[in-house]
Amino acid sequence: MRKIEPQVYLIGETSLVRENLEKMLADHGGDIAKGWYDTTNQAASSHGEYLIEVAGRMCYESYGVGLNPNVTKIRGTSKEYLENILKKGDGSILEHSSVTFAFLKVSRVFTHELVRHRAGTAISQESMRYVRPKEISMWVPPEMQNDKDYTDLVQKIEEGYGKLAAKYDWDKMDFNIKKVLTSALRRVLPDGMATNIVWTANHRTIRHVITMRTSEYAEIEIRKVFDEVAKQVKARYPLIYQDFERTELPDGTGSWKPTHVKV
Ligand SMILES: Cc1cc2nc3c(=O)[nH]c(=O)nc-3n(C[C@H](O)[C@H](O)[C@H](O)COP(=O)(O)OP(=O)(O)OC[C@H]3O[C@@H](n4cnc5c(N)ncnc54)[C@H](O)[C@@H]3O)c2cc1C
Repeated sequence: MRKIEPQVYLIGETSLVRENLEKMLADHGGDIAKGWYDTTNQAASSHGEYLIEVAGRMCYESYGVGLNPNVTKIRGTSKEYLENILKKGDGSILEHSSVTFAFLKVSRVFTHELVRHRAGTAISQESMRYVRPKEISMWVPPEMQNDKDYTDLVQKIEEGYGKLAAKYDWDKMDFNIKKVLTSALRRVLPDGMATNIVWTANHRTIRHVITMRTSEYAEIEIRKVFDEVAKQVKARYPLIYQDFERTELPDGTGSWKPTHVKV
């Protein structure tokens, strides 16, 4: 048995196609929209945040005063604009931008909880029908760190699994039979065993899942992972997560709460 720690990698994000965006703004809002682009484009802290702002401003033609006669003032900075979106709960525009994470060395306990969040997500999880483990890797929760019986039990399962798997001549087997047997064997493996999952979610969803899964009532492993997710997204997309604050819990993980819940 190998002790491991869950790992969080931010591996993808929404990006702008600047040349087309510039043309679109000129087409939609002429010099006013083009002027807004020229003054704000360099200041945008991320493509994802800027795309959200463009989509939102398109709704009211609020790139500047003079385009829509009903608009007499606009929010000048991106920070003010997004702050107002969060305050009003206009969260649907946050769905225009997504982030992709790879969560490595997480347990099946974690992945089962993660996939309960359905809205705004895409998921690819390591197949334990195809992937036959050579050993059991596991994150050991703090309560069990010093209990040798816990790791001994996992060790026994690993040995028993290895013995059972060794009975079969895998090299001579058709791939389909390998899959069937690998799937039959995985049923005796523990839920805590490490696996990998790639998770894409839009920012509206990420805000919701951080709030739910870093709650002090959430399971510790998912809180640990989403504490890290929150740190990474707050640093990379400071405008979207500007209202999130972290409180350190006694176990060292962080609970994140937004001022504006469920936008
Ligand atoms: C601390 C904690 C303990 C939990 N314990 C248990 C447990 O004991 N047993 C258990 O089964 N689960 C448990 N869960 C999981 C929980 O019940 C939800 O399944 C999970 O949190 C997904 O959240 P969500 O419902 O907000 O769905 P998400 O998919 O994250 O959806 C986000 C939001 O979109 C809206 N939405 C999504 N789908 C629909 C829909 N079909 N129709 C209408 N609106 C929709 C809702 O407003 C929803 O809140 C627990 C979760 C937490 C955080």
